[in-house]
This record gives sequence, structure tokens and C-alpha cells, in this order.
Amino acid sequence: MICYIGLGSNLGESKLTLRRAIELIKKIPAVKLLRVSSFYETEPWGVEGQPNYLNAAIKISTELEPLKLLDELQRIEFELGRIRLEHWGARTIDLDILLIEGREIFSERLTVPHKFLFARDFALVPLKEIFPQLNCKLHGDKIIRVAGSPIDFKFKLIACVDKNFGLGNKGKLLFHISEDLKNFRRLTLGHTIIFGRKTLETFPNQNPLDGRRNILLSCSHENISGAEVVGSIEKLFDVLNTAEDNFVIGGEQIFNELIPYAAEIFLTVVDAEVDADAYFPNVDEFILAESNSLRITHCSLRIAFRRYTR
Ligand code: ATP
Ligand code: MG
Ligand code: MG
Repeated sequence: MICYIGLGSNLGESKLTLRRAIELIKKIPAVKLLRVSSFYETEPWGVEGQPNYLNAAIKISTELEPLKLLDELQRIEFELGRIRLEHWGARTIDLDILLIEGREIFSERLTVPHKFLFARDFALVPLKEIFPQLNCKLHGDKIIRVAGSPIDFKFKLIACVDKNFGLGNKGKLLFHISEDLKNFRRLTLGHTIIFGRKTLETFPNQNPLDGRRNILLSCSHENISGAEVVGSIEKLFDVLNTAEDNFVIGGEQIFNELIPYAAEIFLTVVDAEVDADAYFPNVDEFILAESNSLRITHCSLRIAFRRYTR
């Protein structure tokens, strides 16, 4: 089931709260985060005299029943310190189910589509960003896109895979093709690379890569000369620069964590089938923008350099 959730906050550190809420939704079992909108500053709707809001929308897929999903969202609202005082009053976080593809629900606890969705630009503008096919009319409310949403980090995922999107096997990469390595170096040099522990172990002598800002995403508190160690996605957002190119280079788990926030994917696809135990995530949410193939002369394999965008 594909579902769109609207997020809103106008108390406390709203930008951090939205980022944290998205990470908590991502951790709900049986929920997969597919896509995240920009953050928007909006004026209060319904009750005036409260601070402006920060709003966003996300797309998820889930096996949970809608009411179970609502329970989980309410648990996260509670965890993030939501206190219900006045209806439509100021809040640290509000998580509403906006739409569920192919479903309409009218029950005591849940109405889907959300009963005011089509009256609220603060919900429609972020939703339309991640669901452009949505047919709706806007009302001209003041909605301003702000900096600092996760998609502003412009993550670029880069990997070399076989036909089945296999990435690696038993801690090793599937391929070492010099054309691919050159392409990787050309794209990433001078920029930031983000990787997990196992990927670090695939580097020459297990050393950080030269000419790039190296960030190891790992909850172990280790010290690695030449790399910054960051313990969580939220901390990653704190240390990254939105003006930079941030390349996510693996492995499987790190790709899974960051693909919902990614702007671009660079995949070298090798026309071969190899045993693998780690895979690149599904790219259905992306559009193939470019593909250039070439034959590797010394081993007669074909490879294709593919670039995907949103
Ligand atoms: P609004 O629903 O107008 O946006 P609100 O979000 O401030 O107002 P809440 O206090 O968050 O309201 O929720 C009140 C109740 O709304 C919830 O306890 C929930 O049972 C119910 N509800 C009905 N439909 C939905 C929906 N689509 N998403 C979230 N809550 C819903
Ligand atoms: Mg609401
Ligand atoms: Mg609500």
C-alpha cells in the first residue's frame, strides 16, 4: 500500500523535529520510506495568533493496516513531545495520513483522504512535489520553500552492479573495472563521500580515499585518521553542507538508509550475472536520464554508465 503522510510543526526546533519524525517513520517495522518533499514555511490555518508552521510530505509503502499506521504515527507524535491542548493549536509535531492509493476510509478514528486535504495549500504544495500527478486546485496561500530539508543535501548514490543489481559478496565488491574506477574517481574527487564500515574495508589498505571529504556512517565510536565518524542520519544532516555534492558510496545498508533522500543515482551496470549477497535498492522512484554503454576490450564485457534523476 502506497501512502502519503503530511508533517507539520510550529513549536521548538521545527526543522530538526521534522527530520527526526521522518527518521522515526522510516524505522517503523513494515514501513519503507520512498520519497521526501522539501520543507515549507506556511501561515497558520484555522486558528490565528500562533507561530508559522514548517510543513512537509513523505511517500511510504507499507504492509500495515491504516489504523495500525495511525497508531504508529500517534506514538511518534507522543515521543516527539506532542501535547494536545487546543484543536488546531500550536504543536511540536502533527503527522496526518493525507492519502492512501486506491483506498477511501471513513471511520471514527480515520478519514482518508484527510478531510481537509483539498482545502489546505500547506498540505497540497508539499504533496504535489512528490506526487505531481495529483489533480488539485491551490488557493494561493503563502507557502515558502525553506532550506535545510533532507533533500537539500542533494545526495548522489554511486555504485557498480551486475544485471541483478548485485553490489557485493562476502564483504567484497563484485567488480574492479578500471573504466568504472576512473569514472568513480572523476565524479567524486573534490567532494564528500559517505560510506559504511564494510565499504571502508574495501578501500586500498582500508584507508580513507584521498582528495575527498570522507564520512563514515557508523554507530561504533572509532577514530579513523582522515575520516569523520558520524553515528546517525540526523547527525549526518548536521555535519553536511547543502552547497556540496554528497556522494553516498555504499554499502547496501547505507544505500537503503539514504535512497529516499537521494537526488541522483550513478550506476555502472555490468552486463554479467555474479553471485551476490548485497544488493542496490530498488530504483523505481527514479527516472533513467542517461545511459552510455561501452565494451571493455580486455575482457569483452559490456558496461553501461547510467544516471537516474527524480
Ligand atoms: P486535522 O485533522 O484537522 O489536521 P489535527 O491534525 O490537529 O487536525 P489531531 O489532534 O492530530 O488533529 O488528531 C485528531 C484525530 O484525528 C486523531 O486522533 C485521529 O483519530 C483523527 N484522524 C482522522 N483522520 C485522520 C487522518 N487522515 N490522519 C490523522 N489523524 C486522523
Ligand atoms: Mg493535522
Ligand atoms: Mg493530526
